[in-house]
Amino acid sequence: MSEASTTGARVAIVTGAARGIGAATALRLAQDGFAVGVLDLDETAGKETVAAIEAAGGRALAVGADVSDPEQVEAAVGRIAAELGAPTVLVNNAGVTRDNLLFKMTESDWDTVMNVHLRGAFLMTRAVQKHMIEAKWGRIVNLSSTSALGNRGQVNYSAAKAGLQGFTKTLAIELGKFGVTANAVAPGFIQTEMTKATAERVGVSFEDFIAAAAKEIPVQRVGQPEDIAHLVSFFVSEGAGFVSGQVVYAAGGPKA
Ligand code: NAD
Repeated sequence: MSEASTTGARVAIVTGAARGIGAATALRLAQDGFAVGVLDLDETAGKETVAAIEAAGGRALAVGADVSDPEQVEAAVGRIAAELGAPTVLVNNAGVTRDNLLFKMTESDWDTVMNVHLRGAFLMTRAVQKHMIEAKWGRIVNLSSTSALGNRGQVNYSAAKAGLQGFTKTLAIELGKFGVTANAVAPGFIQTEMTKATAERVGVSFEDFIAAAAKEIPVQRVGQPEDIAHLVSFFVSEGAGFVSGQVVYAAGGPKA
């Protein structure tokens, strides 16, 4: 039996946890006392998140998997259950962008974004829910975005992020009677490799891109991955059991 299961620590899986919001969330959940399955396409980078968790006294396992592939998802969840214990917290965070104006958007841009965000969240949640139902306790947090409200150049991404909100609400309805909550976090601009890539795509330095974005945000700064990790930590906490099917926008305020 693993140390985590003998000590009774709950097990969380965070997808896309090799860097950015996912890595910060994995670290935070480890600090909150969870053993964490660090799932990412990039298992080598995932090991860096695991090393940071272990350096802070936590317990984690890096697992390489593509969330849009059913066989890889089943294998990854099985491995985490065997090595850390049955997962009862799932953070569907893995994400990609393939931005383009509608007339230039390819089928591949559309399918990739739908597959990672929507199919990925569906496959991961279907694989993990059996452990939650068995435990009669679970917490699901899906990463939506302010782009769900519409954003130029992101018909694919905004449709996927709005789709995740409907997915979340239906999970809350179906799984509530098993002690499982489902909520969505919808971040605004967060300083990560994803927004850095957007700056590169539009030909602006990341510093200038951040400064311009901060001017438009009521709290006058962009978000950091830890801002989102804090909100995820609330949703998975014991005391949040009566909060389900909600979408919380974490964007430093509404659009002026
Ligand atoms: P990021 O690009 O820094 O990290 C994403 C991680 O997901 C990477 O480690 C990547 O390897 C992993 N990943 C991608 N495809 C995968 C797949 N098929 N299977 C497994 N792992 C995969 O991104 P981030 O900025 O940290 O974003 C995290 C989440 O938050 C995403 O869902 C993103 O859409 C959402 N979000 C980000 C922002 C922002 O401003 N950065 C705003 C709103 C929402």
